Amino acid sequence: MSNPPLQAVRGMNDILPDEARLWLWFEDTVREWLDSYGYRNIRMPLVEPTALFKRAIGEVTDIVEKEMYSFEDSLNGDQLTLRPEGTASCVRAVIQHNLLYNAPQRLYYSGPMFRHERPQKGRYRQFHQIGVEALGYADPDIDAEQILMCARLWRKLGLRDVTLQINTLGDAAARKQHREKLIAYLEQYADLLDEDARRRLHTNPLRILDSKNPAMQELITGAPKLMDELHEDAILHFEAVQSILKQHEVVYEINPRLVRGLDYYNRTVFEWVTDRLGAQGTICAGGRYDGLIEQIGGKPAAACGFAMGIERLLSLLQEEGEVKPLSALDVYLVHQGELADAMASVLAEQLRDAGLRVALHSGGGSFKSQMKKADSSSARFALIVGDDEAQAGQATLKPLRGDGEQLKLAQAELAQTINKMIKKG
Ligand code: ATP
Ligand code: MG
Repeated sequence: MSNPPLQAVRGMNDILPDEARLWLWFEDTVREWLDSYGYRNIRMPLVEPTALFKRAIGEVTDIVEKEMYSFEDSLNGDQLTLRPEGTASCVRAVIQHNLLYNAPQRLYYSGPMFRHERPQKGRYRQFHQIGVEALGYADPDIDAEQILMCARLWRKLGLRDVTLQINTLGDAAARKQHREKLIAYLEQYADLLDEDARRRLHTNPLRILDSKNPAMQELITGAPKLMDELHEDAILHFEAVQSILKQHEVVYEINPRLVRGLDYYNRTVFEWVTDRLGAQGTICAGGRYDGLIEQIGGKPAAACGFAMGIERLLSLLQEEGEVKPLSALDVYLVHQGELADAMASVLAEQLRDAGLRVALHSGGGSFKSQMKKADSSSARFALIVGDDEAQAGQATLKPLRGDGEQLKLAQAELAQTINKMIKKG
């Protein structure tokens, strides 16, 4: 009996070559964009001590309570977790290597994150984020810069249907005052609370405002507002962020219910949302986390950052029809005959020397069957070499897309001619 085929883990996706091209294009665009704001790349391990995430994200959050892939290292018994997000690891690395010793740091990373969620469109168990963190910066110009950065990226990508929501969570003292009022309010309606909310009522009531349960929305709308408890410094900070956004004509909405799903945020929080992706409409989210560095054991330092979900961003791009077909190949080289085979291999190397992307046909077959492969290869041109052409030191160039004549060219002029035709578009 043959073995049954194995499947990928549910919620963890293969990204096949056609789609991966889009990812590469996106990653190139993002890298240029980050360079243009002076952000530098950092790469952390995918696995960290479980304690890091518990301490950073907060014990009473969706992520830590039910979404982490945690396991015991069978060799030494260490408690480990596949990273569910990048900020905690990034801050851990910055502290461990003392990166804030001389200067603040603008850093970014990208890669897979792991959360044990119910898989659905836009929600996966392995998904990918680009994370951007400014560490050691306390002033509102950085919060605003990060929001402006996002707006620039959407323009660069051609995204239209995203809107910006912002809020402020104030500082610790204001949150404490608000927390007491909120608990008192929610206690009055204890029988309207769902299971999550009841559990969080005394541990993390602010999180209840982040609930997506439709049955709770009315209750949440009537809850005491953190905005009413803010102290002056936090108000001034929030106003300064807004005034920079206005100066740059960035449109935003203040959403007092925006609290974010992680504990470490304070002051400015923001989300970029779209209504084109159903329930999974947040493509990018972040904010200030001035207390986190100290909480993880570093010297106190302010910070602000955000992360975007690559799967959601790319599906929004596709939804908006902004994705153009990307060709990975310039030339598909078709060849048949002993002399032709030898020449084609040399020719392919010469064309690559000239900067062209060339697939050399392998596996033999008739001209007809090779031309079929050329057609489906996404190449701009087929280059055909038979023994006659090889003898004459020539090759036939056939455009595969658009119109354009078939040309017989001398081997020596091929690279230049093809490059010229590609430049013309
Ligand atoms: P959500 O409210 O949708 O669960 P979140 O608040 O948990 O999102 P963050 O932790 O802020 O998300 O992560 C930042 C971004 O990463 C999100 O805005 C989203 O674009 C993306 N993201 C988060 N979780 C997933 C997931 N399971 N699958 C795909 N993308 C995700
Ligand atoms: Mg979530």
